[in-house]
Amino acid sequence: SDRIIKTVDAPEGIEGQGFFAGKLDDFVGLARANSLWPLPFATSCCGIEFMATAGSHYDISRFGSERMSFSARQADILMVMGTISKKMGPVLKQVYLQMAEPRWVLSVGACASSGGIFDTYSVLQGIDRIIPVDVYVPGCPPRPEQILDGFMQIQEIAKSEQRRRRESPEYKALLASYGIE
Ligand code: SF4
Repeated sequence: SDRIIKTVDAPEGIEGQGFFAGKLDDFVGLARANSLWPLPFATSCCGIEFMATAGSHYDISRFGSERMSFSARQADILMVMGTISKKMGPVLKQVYLQMAEPRWVLSVGACASSGGIFDTYSVLQGIDRIIPVDVYVPGCPPRPEQILDGFMQIQEIAKSEQRRRRESPEYKALLASYGIE
């Protein structure tokens, strides 16, 4: 795009061949954003909407993300979809910790984001109580278009994120606030 890749005048000797110049961070960001591998952490009804999102009609493969990763170590984006009980919380955090950097978290639906209608003793009132969340998708359940919209917002974050995200002071401070080193 014009924002990322700038055409520069060809120096003598390669006139007519054309080339691009840009920052390595921007190229890496573009590649990352278009090949995010999701880990679908689906516990209840919102997960059904994700199945539709991955199906041929909504087609998440348009974004280079049809390859679901059920190994946390090979996933880029943790998609949490459904009610998370307090007993499930430590499992979710463990999965998050097993993901390599860079990693992003999409909270899909009211339950994952705030506990939803389950304001009870046994349900986690939002996954951001235990792990950092990058984008929240509202709804009970959200439609596939909304899930894709949230996904595209993560793509935008991935594009503009510095290559060495983990080393930024802001990110370190965010992880530290969750007790993650
Ligand atoms: Fe089910 Fe609604 Fe909770 Fe999604 S937000 S898991 S649809 S109750």
